[in-house]
Amino acid sequence: NSTAAPNFIRHIIAADLASNKNNGKVATRFPPEPNGYLHIGHAKSICLNFTLALENNGTCNLRFDDTNPEKESIEYMESIERDVAWLGFKWAGKFHASDYFEQLYDYAVQLIKQGDAYVDSSSAEQMRQDRGTLTQPGKESRDRNRSIDENLDLFQRMRAGEFADGQYVLRAKIDMASPNINMRDPVIYRIRRVHHHRTGDAWCIYPMYDYTHCLSDMLEGITHSICTLEFEDHRPLYDWVLDKLNTPCHPQQIEFARLQLEYTIVSKRKLLQLVTEKHVSGWDDPRMPTISGLRRAGFTPEAIRDFCERIGVTKNDSWIEMGVLENCIREDLNERAPRAMAVLRPLKVTISNWEDGKTETYRIANHPQKPEMGSREVPFGKVILIEQDDFMENPPKDFKRLVPGGEVRLRGSYVIKCDEVIKDSSGNVVELVCSYDPATLGKNPEGRKVKGVIHWVSEAHSIPAELRLYDRLFSHPNPDTLDNFLDGINPNSLEILSDCRLEASLANPLPDTRYQFERTGYFYPDYVDSQPEKLVFNRTVTLRDSWGK
Ligand code: ATP
Ligand code: MG
Ligand code: MG
Repeated sequence: NSTAAPNFIRHIIAADLASNKNNGKVATRFPPEPNGYLHIGHAKSICLNFTLALENNGTCNLRFDDTNPEKESIEYMESIERDVAWLGFKWAGKFHASDYFEQLYDYAVQLIKQGDAYVDSSSAEQMRQDRGTLTQPGKESRDRNRSIDENLDLFQRMRAGEFADGQYVLRAKIDMASPNINMRDPVIYRIRRVHHHRTGDAWCIYPMYDYTHCLSDMLEGITHSICTLEFEDHRPLYDWVLDKLNTPCHPQQIEFARLQLEYTIVSKRKLLQLVTEKHVSGWDDPRMPTISGLRRAGFTPEAIRDFCERIGVTKNDSWIEMGVLENCIREDLNERAPRAMAVLRPLKVTISNWEDGKTETYRIANHPQKPEMGSREVPFGKVILIEQDDFMENPPKDFKRLVPGGEVRLRGSYVIKCDEVIKDSSGNVVELVCSYDPATLGKNPEGRKVKGVIHWVSEAHSIPAELRLYDRLFSHPNPDTLDNFLDGINPNSLEILSDCRLEASLANPLPDTRYQFERTGYFYPDYVDSQPEKLVFNRTVTLRDSWGK
């Protein structure tokens, strides 16, 4: 990959390969918890893990970190698989932390036998009090010195379902005075009678994240376990578990800064709240920063991968401007999107000197710089539609489009002149009567300059469509910093235009194709709501960055 920029993780891996640290092997994994849909922050982690594997002839697994059955579901698992595949990545193996429940249990028994774990009857509240603070050491539980035999017996009975939820936990026996609070005898198993979407009711005890994660990595032979910075001070626990169990391999945990993107949020919990409280239409609402929302809006996997490469990987938290993501899709679609004409807010124009019933058809290139993208036929007739905005009765000086008595070029067609403005009883312009200059088809008129070029459709041939114009979901740049992130919501993030008119060639949009509607933006058929008899398009992004202008 020639665009690959150096980053500190690429350096670490290169050095490990040079010293033959893992016998020349690179094995990574992407470990989502199936408790929501993936968002653009996850895309950063996905691209990082899969790309590092690809670059080094390594492997990357997809592993569901499914140890919290209350919040997890099959629906979420399926959406995650779909999203990772759509981004263009193939996992070497698909695993679940729940695949390892039996092994994890056996390792816990081993810890108990070694005197490195104990069953504690302290309540959650008691443990919170005993944990201490940054400046105060924690307090040892009176169960800490329970005998190994008693611990083994109790742990086995925890599994057998003899105790109530919360009555006992299994804790790692580390150091209640450690300056790192994560090392103050963390809980590694809890009793919880919850149905698990994969293991059903087989278990009533579930392992905790920190204990599960390092062992899952180890069992899969992961070499580089890449995670976000908030796990930095969990690393000693990651290493402690593997060291105590003297495992055959010991993956290296490496932390990087999570993506923070302005004007949105990347937290599954808050995204779920947007969905359940109906601030959006669902996880795949095109305004959502989820992979499924971005896909439905018309983003391409290429643009998202490009974004993840451009923002880079560091150890410093920083905010990325939304414009960076928008530019990635704009640049990608500028290259690949066929052009077409669509009129968002139609104004009727009658061509007075055009023969009734006559139609002309023009061949217009689908892309101005790419003849290989072909061309299409665009019909022209006596009545056409233009944008209301492209006509002004009392224009400012620099207005280059149509004005009373003025001329404008219709893209790919003739120059027309506005001879008459027709208004309704309340003074709204409802129709223009124009004349066309037959000598101007594809030619400049003699002796005068016509600066403006506008798009149009033939009324008789055009097809109706609904266009959904999206704006940023939040009007506050950092909604996460508000007391209530919902206060940052942009009340005008969706405008629905239901009387749009598209050129005839769009009657059957090409599959998986985003279009540039000339002068208005990039659009993608909405695959949820669009019907052959009622087309719906989503605006992926505007043509230029006009935010705040
Ligand atoms: P959330 O806070 O949205 O629930 P999470 O970290 O709890 O995120 P996981 O399902 O555990 O969600 O994430 C899977 C992987 O994606 C983890 O390795 C996590 O570090 C990474 N990840 C999550 N959010 C981001 C982000 N904003 N930027 C980069 N990586 C992220
Ligand atoms: Mg997590
Ligand atoms: Mg989470």
